[in-house]
Amino acid sequence: MAGKSGGNRGWHSETTAVHAGEYIDPATRASSPNLVMSVTFAPEAVTGFSARDEQGYEGFVYGRVGSPTVAQLQDKLVALEAAEAALCFGSGVAAAHALICGRLGRGDHLIVPDANYVGIAELARDTLPRFGIDVSYVDLSRPEEVAAAIRPETRMLWLETPANPTMKLCDIAALARLAHERGVRDVAVDSTYATPMATQPLSLGADFVVHSLTKYIGGHGDAMGGVVLGRKADLDALNLEATVHFGGVLSPFNAWLILRGAATLPIRMRAHQEAAMQVARFLEEHPAVSRVFYPGLASHPQHALAQRQMRNFSGMLTFQTREAGPTVAARMVKQLEVIHYAVSLGHHRSLIYWIGTDDIENSTFRHDPEQLRRYRDYTGDGVFRLSVGIENGEDLIADLGRVL
Ligand SMILES: *Cc1c(COP(=O)(O)O)cnc(C)c1O
Repeated sequence: MAGKSGGNRGWHSETTAVHAGEYIDPATRASSPNLVMSVTFAPEAVTGFSARDEQGYEGFVYGRVGSPTVAQLQDKLVALEAAEAALCFGSGVAAAHALICGRLGRGDHLIVPDANYVGIAELARDTLPRFGIDVSYVDLSRPEEVAAAIRPETRMLWLETPANPTMKLCDIAALARLAHERGVRDVAVDSTYATPMATQPLSLGADFVVHSLTKYIGGHGDAMGGVVLGRKADLDALNLEATVHFGGVLSPFNAWLILRGAATLPIRMRAHQEAAMQVARFLEEHPAVSRVFYPGLASHPQHALAQRQMRNFSGMLTFQTREAGPTVAARMVKQLEVIHYAVSLGHHRSLIYWIGTDDIENSTFRHDPEQLRRYRDYTGDGVFRLSVGIENGEDLIADLGRVL
């Protein structure tokens, strides 16, 4: 069951984040959300057996079709993203897979960025073509390249901004308009880096938004999840196939943890941005650092777009060092005291990881020479991807100063 259109009742985002999808439990008067682990629900009258018979039935039947704690999280996300409906999945990649495979089939064409989140990039390159979906890779910062890639059978344009790991942005409103004018049915945005506090892609003309809830929205590094948000009719159709048949649903326990994390999203994003700005300025001045990419810095090549499209610059940045990346990374593993040298991002604690260009080219992107040249414009031989947490910026600066 897709999340009900909660609306945010005109509240500000801080109030919405705390209260949307939550209510005093009518049975117990509990003020905080219940965790309902039950997989099956006893109907008050006889209903059909197939999930198809449950369309229009308001209650819960079976955990894979919908369950109460997950529905509460969906309602909160609907309100934060100002969407009509949401469907949660067991991870961000499960959400992306469900959306793409739920909407596309043999003979359809998909356009994806020439560099984006590795799990989705590899899904597009290695898996989708096996099922007859043709994929093109374009530089989203060049609308003329997107226009040239569109064909009569193009059914979906996949955007990611800011993109992992380049920190390149794309203009959602301009690309959504371009795609729809040329007959592309679906524009989907992976908005994991931005969060709804920075950007609401649906208001800019996108049809779907995807988040890894594992990152900023859950925010504490202790629960995986993913979500697709969009129009109610689209998500009801997706629910029948992509949750009921693909089955990658979110566990109620993870939904409960993410529900608690999401309540503080607006204040955490302010803290992420504040600390990231301090750290980015420090890195920009540091003699051992050759380049820094942070949308909040005037030096970001698309800073003007960032100012227009992002209400919050988030906590993600990349930087390059004059010394070889792997050498610096080895010192980080041993000597960092606050920042963890570990993958993932968007948690309350800061995380850093070295992403070598040759490694990722072999494993994931396999760019043509021109695309590789453009990728290296942003990444050189590799980047340190730093997810700035909500610690004090000066402590993070001292930690980085020790290892650079
Ligand atoms: C982490 C991430 C994903 C995948 O999410 P998981 O929850 O790890 O499956 C997708 N997109 C972006 C931008 C991410 O950072």
